[in-house]
Amino acid sequence: MADEQAEGEIVSLAQALRRHLQRRQRAGIRIVSGQQPSTPMKPESVAADQPSISMEGNLFAAPSAALDAKSLEELRAEIGDCRRCKLCAGRTHIVYGVGNPRARLMFVGEGPGRDEDLQGEPFVGRAGQLLNDIITKGMGLKREDVYIANVVKCRPPENRNPEPDEVAACEPFLKKQIDLIRPEIIVGLGKFAVQTLLQSKVPITKLRGAWHRYHGIKLMPTFHPAYLLRNPADKKLVWDDIKKVIKELSGENS
Ligand code: URA
Repeated sequence: MADEQAEGEIVSLAQALRRHLQRRQRAGIRIVSGQQPSTPMKPESVAADQPSISMEGNLFAAPSAALDAKSLEELRAEIGDCRRCKLCAGRTHIVYGVGNPRARLMFVGEGPGRDEDLQGEPFVGRAGQLLNDIITKGMGLKREDVYIANVVKCRPPENRNPEPDEVAACEPFLKKQIDLIRPEIIVGLGKFAVQTLLQSKVPITKLRGAWHRYHGIKLMPTFHPAYLLRNPADKKLVWDDIKKVIKELSGENS
């Protein structure tokens, strides 16, 4: 148990260091061999005022490790004309994902609806419009700045919840997408996405609004935009969650 915990901590530190170095690299900061960084590196921490539930997995047994795609394009090619589960029977398009492959922020939803199935792109219907508003009006970002994907890539009939065998077939592709993008923050949209990522049965009402971890990546669960269309009073709660994400992205918590 102590060994597992120590291994989890080492993995967490290694991932934090890698992201830190990637950010410095993107910012054009180069560390010459032997030169000490100007400030001591510290592992990224979740917001101090937020409870954190660690879901740190074992890096060496990453669930998508069997997929050897080196880019999002290669991964899409590996999915091919997928027949791995029964959802293929009713789909028009595989809805793979869209956005910046180097996004700092990734949104994960449940699965395509009718509009997404027809257009082959996630979150393009009414719920998608609301998500766009959150991204653009709420966060001041462009949709192209972030990455958007779903747990399952094909539309479940009548928008029913994806079934366990469908999730099992598709989940490795989402996990590999996350692995390839390595966002700093994931926003989990709704019960289904969040429970899948956290491997938890805790209700979304209890999970939302607090920082969690998915393999070292900060995860903020919030309500699904489709839920907000039916329960607009809860938009306020989502805005509270999104403000925490904005704060974290702006580095205010580091
Ligand atoms: N709902 C989702 O969860 N994903 C989409 O892409 C669209 C609606």
